[in-house]
Amino acid sequence: MSRSHELFEAAQRHIPGGVNSPVRAFRGVGGDPVFFERAEGAYAYDADGKRYVDYVGSWGPMILGHAHPEVLGAVEERMRKGLSFGAPTEVETQMADTVCELVPSMEMVRMVSSGTEATMSALRLARGYTGRDKVVKFEGCYHGHVDSLLVKAGSGALTFGEPNSPGVPAALAELTITLPYNDIAAVRETFAEIGSEIACIIVEPVAGNMNCIPPLPGFLEGLREVCTEHGAVLIFDEVMSGFRVSLGGAQGHFGVTPDLTTLGKVIGGGMPVGAFGGKREIMEHVSPVGPVYQAGTLSGNPIAMAAGLKTLELISEPGFYDRLTATTSELLAGLRERAAAAGVPFTTNQAGAMFGLFFSAEPVTGFDQATACNQEHFKAFFHGMLERGVYLAPSAFEAGFVSIKHGEAEIQATLDAAAEVFAEIAG
Ligand code: PLP
Repeated sequence: MSRSHELFEAAQRHIPGGVNSPVRAFRGVGGDPVFFERAEGAYAYDADGKRYVDYVGSWGPMILGHAHPEVLGAVEERMRKGLSFGAPTEVETQMADTVCELVPSMEMVRMVSSGTEATMSALRLARGYTGRDKVVKFEGCYHGHVDSLLVKAGSGALTFGEPNSPGVPAALAELTITLPYNDIAAVRETFAEIGSEIACIIVEPVAGNMNCIPPLPGFLEGLREVCTEHGAVLIFDEVMSGFRVSLGGAQGHFGVTPDLTTLGKVIGGGMPVGAFGGKREIMEHVSPVGPVYQAGTLSGNPIAMAAGLKTLELISEPGFYDRLTATTSELLAGLRERAAAAGVPFTTNQAGAMFGLFFSAEPVTGFDQATACNQEHFKAFFHGMLERGVYLAPSAFEAGFVSIKHGEAEIQATLDAAAEVFAEIAG
């Protein structure tokens, strides 16, 4: 019996489902979750000491690879001065300055402790700023477990087939309008009818929670136009795409400027961090300058800031994203080649260093195509790769991530494993 199995049995006694976040439970692929013990560079090691090439990277943050010595050094140095003060520290200003420099649409920023907090706060701010209650989101986009946004959501909510969670009041869900991703005509129609009631559009500028689906040309530009025309706030949820699709996020990559941006994952370098920010005029509505309340005991925690700031410094080095993107492209081209050789219908999506794997003969540009992919093939692929020491996201509806530590050896090992697994799937 594996140590992971024993640990999972023990975990289920006092933790619902044995996990502290649902997708980790492997319900989307079956079997026991792998319990990790440590990780370094591109590799994670499970409780039995087995090594995996890791393409989850803590769901995105570990862009520098695990346990980067300089990030650990920054954390250690800061840690020795005390864990938390609940009072301002200089490192918070350094973080704010860095974020506003890297993401120019962000003129002011407020730090929080998770992506969920960031989107929840951005939503409240958009409502408070406009004095309107309705929000527009897109089917299959996940913005954390915020009540108003847990409507036709992606990620775990999609894996479990419960896009509308019990506990979200119907009266609140009614204020959330969900439209198809990449369908700008639907957005224009909705705004033509009730544009003056809509506070904001929130969108993942590259969808990463129904697997990876980049925006079609004109989609983000269209959202910008509609929001400007109707006085609604455009929120790019870049919790996943920020510092991942490019150094300036998806907005830098596609050249479309939102009013507000939410960040998470990479910005914390593996520590619990999120942020929301944007136009000064809007951000000045946040407490204590303005009336929109928002707060947090551990917001801007100095240790978390130190990890994030060092991460942002290292990813800003010239050539970082060229290399990361090239590695991602090489991985995907290799996978497509091996699937084709085995005769397995398979396609991939990529936006910078974010990728999606789909068991589909057709391109995948929306929610319906993503959910129509061959789930059985995905499960077989996932388990075949896991057995061979490659850790992919345990759900067909999650994006994958490479780190800068993924090199030739890791890509080759992944492709060798994939060739065998595709052959098995082809039968
Ligand atoms: N927004 C997006 C786009 C995400 O991908 C996620 C998490 O995966 C969130 C928000 C929520 O972030 P967190 O899990 O840190 O609350």
